[in-house]
Amino acid sequence: MTNYIDEFRDKAVIQKIVDCLNTYSGRNIKIMEVCGTHTMAISRYGLRSLLPKSIELLSGPGCPVCVTPTGYVDSAVELAENKNVIITTFGDMMRIPGNNSTLLYKKAQGCNVQMVYSPLNSLEIARANPDKEVVFLSVGFETTTPVIALSVLKAEAEKIKNFSVLTANKTMPEAIKALAGDGELALDGFIYPGHVSAIIGTDFFSYVAYNMEKAGVVAGFEPLDILYSINILLKNITEGKKVFENVYSRIVSKEGNTKAQQKMYEVFEPVDAVWRGIGMIPGSGLGLKEAYETFDAMKKFHMEPKDSPEPKGCMCGEVLKGKKRPHDCKLFKTRCTPENPVGACMVSSEGTCAAYYKYGD
Ligand code: SF4
Repeated sequence: MTNYIDEFRDKAVIQKIVDCLNTYSGRNIKIMEVCGTHTMAISRYGLRSLLPKSIELLSGPGCPVCVTPTGYVDSAVELAENKNVIITTFGDMMRIPGNNSTLLYKKAQGCNVQMVYSPLNSLEIARANPDKEVVFLSVGFETTTPVIALSVLKAEAEKIKNFSVLTANKTMPEAIKALAGDGELALDGFIYPGHVSAIIGTDFFSYVAYNMEKAGVVAGFEPLDILYSINILLKNITEGKKVFENVYSRIVSKEGNTKAQQKMYEVFEPVDAVWRGIGMIPGSGLGLKEAYETFDAMKKFHMEPKDSPEPKGCMCGEVLKGKKRPHDCKLFKTRCTPENPVGACMVSSEGTCAAYYKYGD
């Protein structure tokens, strides 16, 4: 008896879809996946090699750690140097190079940097260390932000005063609009992120299809999910249909997770945000509302945002925009490896350079 996952890895069905895709012999089609988990899955299962040369899969800015600017890492490093502060963070952030250091290096030097699996773990650390300030590195898309909002609400309800968050939260819609409107990229369609869509629903993707004339699908993460989605996209693009289809309906609904949305917007509000290598995208970030500003680490520690340069020679910005591939970067596999990463795209478990390094094209 097959289980739920095996059905989405069925070789006979996959072969049928691959055969169907390989009958295509028209003009070049450019499709962008806007999700780091899709990027990894496409590389891990070697899906690019199953497609005809005329179907190009580009990776977009779908990894939250990768799009976090160097200046944010430098702020986190500065806070880590404060003997009164405990930094709590998801693991990938520890290895992202700042201008002069990483959080992992600071930890090795004796700074108090702790890896957590949830911001709620940070609250436990704050409760256990009332004489210290606990700062959680609040990085992520709509998938992660609701639970960060929950941690702020819990801290407020329990009057935990020694907890704050250093925010660099991003939202997908404005970034996707920027990519859809980029004439140089000239994308034909998008594979939208399944996790983010599960939270925000699908109305925005219909907007992009009908108002910005880009075909799109929301896809799951198994090989069959992705290949089937490409097949649907190809059919719609070649027939001239600028439409959106949800092919991940086992998880994603039109409305999304309204409870998670409500929690997120109870605590956060849209702000302009800087994306690594892309720059400022108006309204593409989430900052704490005034009512929760006592939990804002930047305000608590009287800090100003830092405008730090990207590592010399690193092409993460172009890679994140889908304009370059990792091996276009001279540092790829030379000075930049997962053991000694130069840029964020090589560090993160969802980074494009890490995916190409581990699995090839
Ligand atoms: Fe940046 Fe390294 Fe990727 Fe080059 S290979 S773009 S240096 S992360």
